[in-house]
Amino acid sequence: MSDRPSPVSEAPLRRNRATSHVLHRHTGDVLPVAVGGEGCWLIDAEGRRYLDASGGAAVSCLGHGNRRVRDAIMAQLDKVAFAHTGFFTNEPMERLAEMLVEGAPEGIGRACFVSGGSEAIESALKIARQYAVERGDLARTRVIARRQSYHGNTLGALSATGNTGRRRPFLPWVIDDVVHVSPCYAWRHRAADETDIAYGQRLAAEFEHQLRVLGPETVLAFVAEPVVGATLGAVPAVEGYFKAIRQICDRHGVLLILDEVMCGMGRTGYLYACEADGVAPDMIAMAKGLGAGYQPIGAVLVSDAIADVVLHGRLGLMTGHTYMGHPVACAASLAVQEVIRDDGLVARVRGLDATFEGLLRDGLGARPEVGDIRGRGFFRGIELVADRASKRPFPATAGLAKRIKAAAFDLGLICYPGNGTADGIDGDHILLAPPFIATEDELALAVERLGQAIDRAMADAGLRAA
Ligand code: PLP
Repeated sequence: MSDRPSPVSEAPLRRNRATSHVLHRHTGDVLPVAVGGEGCWLIDAEGRRYLDASGGAAVSCLGHGNRRVRDAIMAQLDKVAFAHTGFFTNEPMERLAEMLVEGAPEGIGRACFVSGGSEAIESALKIARQYAVERGDLARTRVIARRQSYHGNTLGALSATGNTGRRRPFLPWVIDDVVHVSPCYAWRHRAADETDIAYGQRLAAEFEHQLRVLGPETVLAFVAEPVVGATLGAVPAVEGYFKAIRQICDRHGVLLILDEVMCGMGRTGYLYACEADGVAPDMIAMAKGLGAGYQPIGAVLVSDAIADVVLHGRLGLMTGHTYMGHPVACAASLAVQEVIRDDGLVARVRGLDATFEGLLRDGLGARPEVGDIRGRGFFRGIELVADRASKRPFPATAGLAKRIKAAAFDLGLICYPGNGTADGIDGDHILLAPPFIATEDELALAVERLGQAIDRAMADAGLRAA
């Protein structure tokens, strides 16, 4: 017999984690219940409104309650909800693939649809391996990724992940064949007398050195986020870095897989984040903004060169999931991408790049605890430090980023916390990734509330910056 209360007919306004039958990820004891969404705002059962300035975790790029997406979902449900891709294709999936490929970097010719970001990374890794196997390149098993990266939660994606905090409990299971090199994190790791260009070249040389140590003929792929999201908080690479990486990959027959799960689909002011770096990868993993949260969907975009080998090979495509290419998810995503195109939202984000950055710098830049404000478009990170001169982080035990998240939530603001200090490496940061429809007033309000939340969290933790 469970000692939990039996279900009540009237839905409670809040849920208690201890008595809920759900195995929650939320760490709070009392959980607000989300019941509504309008534009950039989420509403709970008690009627409180929260400005969703991080789109959850960079998901809700269209905001909440978009009617056009809702109508597309309903229309698809009226046709067919599910038809297994082992038997059928479906119209929204075909049209979505056409649309994505049309705007994609040179060479990309196919899309494979899955249900989220981790599945997209898993699929990219498996397609890379299949490509090598079909070509008789059997020794290519190794993957090089970067420290302080996040590529997903499933075991293959977690193996590529460089965030040690998220990997640690599962270390016995992660794949040994992944080696991590330095992230491109100029604000913290570029030498005082080094230019951005020289720093990028130094990291590229480190990558090539690692390749030579492993034996280039054993390396399958290099995986990286063009703008590092969850682990570092919106850190783009320096100019020239990805071009140099691309050249090294080409020299050694290594595939370049870019993880745009968080930073892709317009978030940085470019449809594909790698456009800003001027590189064309062999595969791109995406999710989050692809479906904008209206349906769970991810995708891996694949170059024609790889797709041709895999599709004409002996094995056929050997990565499959029951829900891949789900018609309702594809219809939702197609509508999301059509809204983004028709309303010119990528151009809007790019046009507001300087405005948003200016609001952040004016509102937060003078604070002693704000070490760095960075990012592109509507993908921004604020790193907090105990000492600006030395960039010394606050102690991990203070849990500052999580305290800011909680204080902000209390003030009616949703922002996404991260802290490298949990890895014993770098500092706390807050990620902002507002919907592409956010007004200037909403952006300003997000910055104002974030400032208040930082004050509260610092006071609660008894912290003071130098
Ligand atoms: N890759 C990146 C860059 C991410 O930020 C995430 C999630 O935050 C993932 C992969 C995993 O995506 P999902 O949580 O949809 O499995």
